[in-house]
Amino acid sequence: MKIKLWGGVGEIGGNIVEIEAGGERVILDFGQSFSRGNEYFYEFLKPRIGAGLLDYLEFDLIPPLPGLYDPKLLRLTNLEVSDPRFAGVFISHAHGDHCMFIKFLHPEIPLYMGETTRSILEVVETTSHSFQIGEHRNLACFRTGSEISIGNNFLIRPVHVDHSVPGAYGFIVETPDGYIVYSGDIRFHGPLSRLSQDFVEKALKVRPKALILEGTRVDSSRKDSEERVFNDCLDKVKQTRNLVVVGVYPKDLDRLHTFYRISRECGRKLAIPLKTACVIDSLKEDPHLDLARHIWEDKENVFVHFHRAKSGDFLEKDYRPCILKDQGFSSPERACLRERRITAEEIGKRQEEYIWVLDFFHLTELVEAKPKPGSLYLFSMSEILEDPIDELESEILKNWCQRFNLEYFVSHASGHACREELADLVNSINPEVLIPIHTVHPQKFLDFFPKVIFPERGKSIML
Ligand SMILES: [Zn+2]
Ligand SMILES: [Zn+2]
Repeated sequence: MKIKLWGGVGEIGGNIVEIEAGGERVILDFGQSFSRGNEYFYEFLKPRIGAGLLDYLEFDLIPPLPGLYDPKLLRLTNLEVSDPRFAGVFISHAHGDHCMFIKFLHPEIPLYMGETTRSILEVVETTSHSFQIGEHRNLACFRTGSEISIGNNFLIRPVHVDHSVPGAYGFIVETPDGYIVYSGDIRFHGPLSRLSQDFVEKALKVRPKALILEGTRVDSSRKDSEERVFNDCLDKVKQTRNLVVVGVYPKDLDRLHTFYRISRECGRKLAIPLKTACVIDSLKEDPHLDLARHIWEDKENVFVHFHRAKSGDFLEKDYRPCILKDQGFSSPERACLRERRITAEEIGKRQEEYIWVLDFFHLTELVEAKPKPGSLYLFSMSEILEDPIDELESEILKNWCQRFNLEYFVSHASGHACREELADLVNSINPEVLIPIHTVHPQKFLDFFPKVIFPERGKSIML
């Protein structure tokens, strides 16, 4: 059996894991690196869409593997065009550093992801310009308990884990040469930490040859907790006389639920961005996602903030990209959005009544809301992980806060396990070897586990 890591080596994110057994190959995750290519590309200086994969291959942004990509995208490149040479690609969760490049895959290669991940990615595709699912003739969804047999050499069992996006998974991969366990991104302090415990229990039973484990926070002993975020922010909100503005990731529904709880506790209403509303509206039927349903059913207290878009008059056509394809928001599925509409001006008139979740790129809405002195901005996202905001953005955000009477306060719990939690996980599963991924400190694993293999990008690890 052979393992090659094409991303997530010495960096946080960009995971691409190739596993070969009996002459067949599968790939786990197909993400975009946050750092690779940053010395050449910036903001609107990007690889050209019209050049297919030419720029991506030139700068080594994707692995140069024949039989992996859509032949249409290879026209200008030197990469051999061929039939698929991979038995399947498996996506662990809906963060871009694990799935951004699935649009490049050969349409005939079977692509697997969790049902929740698929729902989230469909919404992201319709609400953003940067992500596309792409064309896949064999796209299938799994749940915990699924067993996916691929080719003659692979049986893959996805097992749920807790992370900062709903529907995250790790994988247990069975081959004739033994088992490989892959963690995806994992934490133990969220509301669903029992899912991660489940994963560990299932993984230790197979006595894996290799554990490919994320180590985002292997250098940090800080034990995070969602309850701490709740308590810290609740205190701050209680002390605030006027408007409360919050920055959270649109896909982090656990954090959104934390702010929903705070809003109820303080008797405030919650205003959420249109994009977030689309995400929770698409997940509200999911029987495993009570949080989304809980927030969405509270029509008295949860409103949808419509930013002032193109026409300036909040017309349907302004928001079409945010709504399910081909359906205006007058369609029955999305009428709920309009019914719950609120604007910055309306929020501004009753500042003491709201907690307002506001996206960085819509900070201009503050001009109309006019926060009064004694208002608060709660920054509740990580500064370096998952869709990072950079230093310049952070400075700009602080400038907006200063200009609009918003006290700036940070409270966040990571989507990743800390050092002690990772040590417990490794020692419970006790694999023959540990292969660190998604970390800039791989050597730190040696502090608590002796058999670590340090991967090099694209180099085979033979097991
Ligand atoms: Zn990640
Ligand atoms: Zn993630």
